[in-house]
Formats: sequence, structure tokens, C-alpha cells
Amino acid sequence: MSIAYLLGKGSSKPLRYKPNIPLLLVLSIIPDIDIIFDLLTGAQLHRGPSHSVVVAIVAFIPFFIVYRKKAIPYFLALISHSLIGDFFIGGQVQLLWPLSTTQFGLQELGSYYISIFNPINIVLELTLFTIATVVLYKTNDWKVFFTNNKSNLILIIPIFTVLLPTTIGYPFSKPLLTTEPFLAIAHLFYLVLFSIAVLKALLSIYKHRFKPPINSKG
Ligand SMILES: [Zn+2]
Repeated sequence: MSIAYLLGKGSSKPLRYKPNIPLLLVLSIIPDIDIIFDLLTGAQLHRGPSHSVVVAIVAFIPFFIVYRKKAIPYFLALISHSLIGDFFIGGQVQLLWPLSTTQFGLQELGSYYISIFNPINIVLELTLFTIATVVLYKTNDWKVFFTNNKSNLILIIPIFTVLLPTTIGYPFSKPLLTTEPFLAIAHLFYLVLFSIAVLKALLSIYKHRFKPPINSKG
């Protein structure tokens, strides 16, 4: 999410465009929707079709046609998940599905395997998380999570597909919070931030729906 945020932010600057931050973050995590899919169906598709760059390009064609250059930050946010995050950490990504089921990653290139729990990954994740949080704060982007914006409801997706399951346990054998508290820091941060945003959006919808008419005389 940090990489996608920084990439989305950086690429939208020359376009003189202010991207939707929650959407960037959601797109960056969308490929991992296969974690919950595997859990519910018993399939083993993780790092498969949803992580394919081919699928991402096809899915983005309509958005490139309609929004042109403005779709770039969102596209980068989506593909950064497979091409940067998962490629270097863990690998085994089917980048070219359905054209090929070959798995790609740093390890597949002949380098050594870096797992999620490898200290290199923990340091990298914490560093990127810190940089992203500083940028989020300095640019006032954090404020978007405290607005009554209905589009913030999309943050329900990362809460229930990735943040909550990994913090509790799945797909790991034990909760991330007990096995790798350092990795859990960022998870908890985003979990709290996103929950506030979703609750605010829900509350504003509720208030809007049940607000009495202004000129009501009872
Ligand atoms: Zn992934």
C-alpha cells in the first residue's frame, strides 16, 4: 500500500491531478482478494490470475479510454502489488496469466528467496510505511480518511480481505500480531485508519437518510 501510494502520488504530480487516495490504496491490495477467495472456496489461486499484469492491462483498458492519463496513477497502484511487492518478496507470481502460468519473482531469477518474515522484508516494509506515513501527513492527505466521503466505503475491501484476516491469522498459521508484531504495526495503523473512514462514511449516510426536512412543521 505504501509503494502504491507513493507511486500514485508521484505519477499524478506531473499530470497536475489529485488522485483519490483511498482508491489508490484499495487497488494496491485488490490482487490479494484471492486470499479470501481461496479461504472460501478451498481453491489455490493465490498469486495467480488476480496478480497477472495481463489481467490488469485488460481490466484497465476501459478506464484508459475514458480517463486517459488520469488512469495512470491507479494502474501503477494496481500493478505495483505484483511487479514490485510480491515479485521481490515471495515471488511465485503468475504475471502473464492466462498467456502463461509461469511463476515470476526474484527467486525465479536466480536470487535467494526472501519470505514475508525475512528481516530484509520487515525492514523494507517498515521503511516504506514510515516514508508513506510522513508523506501522508505532510501533504494533508490523511484528512481524507476523516471526511464524510461516501467513496471511502471502498476501504471495506482491504479491511475484510487482507487487513483483518492477516492480523487475526489467515493465511498464516498464527496471528501476525503475535508472530511478527513489527509487521503488524502497519496493518493495525491502516486497519484503524480505514475503520474510522468507513464508520464516518456510514454515519454520514445514516444522518443524511434520516435527517428531518428543513421546513418541516411537524
Ligand atoms: Zn499478493
